Amino acid sequence: MISRRKLLKTLSSLPLVGGFAAGGLLSGNVAYGALAPRRNYFKELGLKTFINAAGSYTTLTGCLMPREVVEAYNYASNEYVSLVELQDAVGKKIAGMLGCEAAMVTAGAASAMTLATAAVLTGTDEDKAKRIPIDLSGMKNEVIVQKEHIVGYTHAIINCGIKLVVVNSRKELIKAIKKNTAMLYYTDTHTNDGSVKAREFVQIGKKYGIPTFNDAAASAPPRKRLSLYTDMGFDLVTFSGGKGIRGPQSAGLLFGRKDLIEAARFNAPPHSDRIGRGMKVNKEEIISMWIALERFLEMDMDKEYKRWQKQIELIAKVVSSVDDLTVENYIPEYPNNVPTLKLTWDRSKIPASGLDIQDALRSGSPSVEIAHPEENGFNITTFSMLPKQEHIVAIRVKEELKKAHG
Ligand SMILES: *Cc1c(COP(=O)(O)O)cnc(C)c1O
Repeated sequence: MISRRKLLKTLSSLPLVGGFAAGGLLSGNVAYGALAPRRNYFKELGLKTFINAAGSYTTLTGCLMPREVVEAYNYASNEYVSLVELQDAVGKKIAGMLGCEAAMVTAGAASAMTLATAAVLTGTDEDKAKRIPIDLSGMKNEVIVQKEHIVGYTHAIINCGIKLVVVNSRKELIKAIKKNTAMLYYTDTHTNDGSVKAREFVQIGKKYGIPTFNDAAASAPPRKRLSLYTDMGFDLVTFSGGKGIRGPQSAGLLFGRKDLIEAARFNAPPHSDRIGRGMKVNKEEIISMWIALERFLEMDMDKEYKRWQKQIELIAKVVSSVDDLTVENYIPEYPNNVPTLKLTWDRSKIPASGLDIQDALRSGSPSVEIAHPEENGFNITTFSMLPKQEHIVAIRVKEELKKAHG
């Protein structure tokens, strides 16, 4: 394994690296613009931090929050404010920014899924809101989903006590619609897998008068998708706050129809006897979610894409010196529409699996996380990385693959 010292030496001798202080590469968010911490809490806890060449994964703590977002978070921690008035005001701002009727900050996209389902079931009826998920009498109790759109997250819908009705085609979807149908659920990430696409899905919902919900948790960037689905006619849409938008990891956005956002909030704190009571969002997260969205909408996205692309190209160039490695640089449509490097190899030439390389990179110093380890390959993205960290990733990946090649 390369020593930190040797790594720094190698870095400073690289023509690619140019004039930057290599030490700053290893110090996480400080390089991203956050304030220098007075204590190294992770170190005190004996935790290893890492360079994120994987992307925005829950287990890897999402994305780092930019300085403006951290500043907003810190600001909010210094004053009391009415939680209800804060949600009103931020909801109005966000709805204005996205060009939809209403919005709220939720405890992540999964929480938005539960609150959206609760909203269509109960409206603002207190008796109903108190009864879910145990007693759904007098309420509709089925949510329809295409088979390909079922992911682990649908548990967040089932939490409300509904039955998930799974369909395989447009014909089955229409046949499944009954007077008990509460909502049609769509997962944007799986658009290319399901046979009924978003527009058609919305049309069916409108025709039969059933609310449609789009789980677009991981679908930004690109930025245009943030207003695409409400414009298309989806009644409710969610995006995760802590993925590509770079807000707090435990926050998210739920937006769309005004009456349904009101009903979703009716099922959430500060109300106590509600399904969403455990999904509290504090004032710091509400404020910083708004600012993360503002930043995301205003930033120079072309410049950002160019930086990600250049980082990918650098890594591609460096690792290309490994024999028998196939290096592919592309931008997938879903979930994260960002420059991606796919590395694959012939196991008879490089005996290690993607998982072996993942282990080696993870236990290295600095530790590096990669995505989608498979039998004979893995992926790298750069959008969760800090500027310049691509140099370290390139060196470490090349080193481990060369070692495996023998
Ligand atoms: C990440 C994700 C979620 C959950 O988002 P959180 O903000 O972590 O709650 C839900 N659905 C899909 C498709 C996701 O990718």
